[in-house]
Amino acid sequence: MKKEKGQLIVLSGPSGVGKSTVIAELFSQRDNIYFSVSYTTRQPRTGEQDGVNYNFVDRAEFERMIAANELLEYAEYVNNYYGTSLKAIQERLDAGVDVLLDIEVQGAAKVRARCPGALFIFIIPPSFEELSRRLHRRNTDSEDVIAGRLEKAKVEFKEIPHYDYLVINDKVSGAVAEIEAILTAAECRVENRKSILTQFA
Ligand code: ADP
Ligand code: 5GP
Repeated sequence: MKKEKGQLIVLSGPSGVGKSTVIAELFSQRDNIYFSVSYTTRQPRTGEQDGVNYNFVDRAEFERMIAANELLEYAEYVNNYYGTSLKAIQERLDAGVDVLLDIEVQGAAKVRARCPGALFIFIIPPSFEELSRRLHRRNTDSEDVIAGRLEKAKVEFKEIPHYDYLVINDKVSGAVAEIEAILTAAECRVENRKSILTQFA
């Protein structure tokens, strides 16, 4: 059943918790969902592709996008800008496609203020030590950057009460199953099934 309007889904969680890993697995199981490719000024990590993981831009271009009001939200995170293109997601939502944003907590707060129907999911590791282990094991950031990300994580955890759902990424398959359950529940909301109800009126 085609939806009139797509569901906007915001996924937040500390760097290294496994968001990209979980999203990749979720997308291998689900179609009709679009991953919003963010703009960032951070350098690509090994294996990351421009236009796939992020749109990599310089600070001047990012600041031009801010000034031109092209971003739904943006934030500065560990010395880099990250932001969501408004046009790219609006077109999908209007076409009835669900859109997933992988964004940090300040950006999520902006989306909460601007998009009342959005769904907010926070993803945590099974323990703080495991978060540190994952950041080290990923082997993409210097010790300084990892320390900055772990400090940031403590601040981010304080924002969890503003989210609708909390997913624990112990095993990837478990986290994906929890997100699937949340998305299915959202689809079953009465307000999302209005079109089928007309025949019973
Ligand atoms: P994020 O996108 O949240 O920054 P990544 O998806 O890059 O995190 O994952 C960080 C590291 O943790 C990667 O090396 C990834 O393979 C690993 N990882 C992700 N999920 C799990 C998990 N459930 N158990 C163990 N390792 C995981
Ligand atoms: P990373 O550098 O690990 O890819 O991302 C760092 C943080 O930036 C993560 O918490 C990620 O969710 C967040 N992020 C990625 N894209 C965006 C975006 O477009 N806007 C905001 N506000 N945060 C983003």
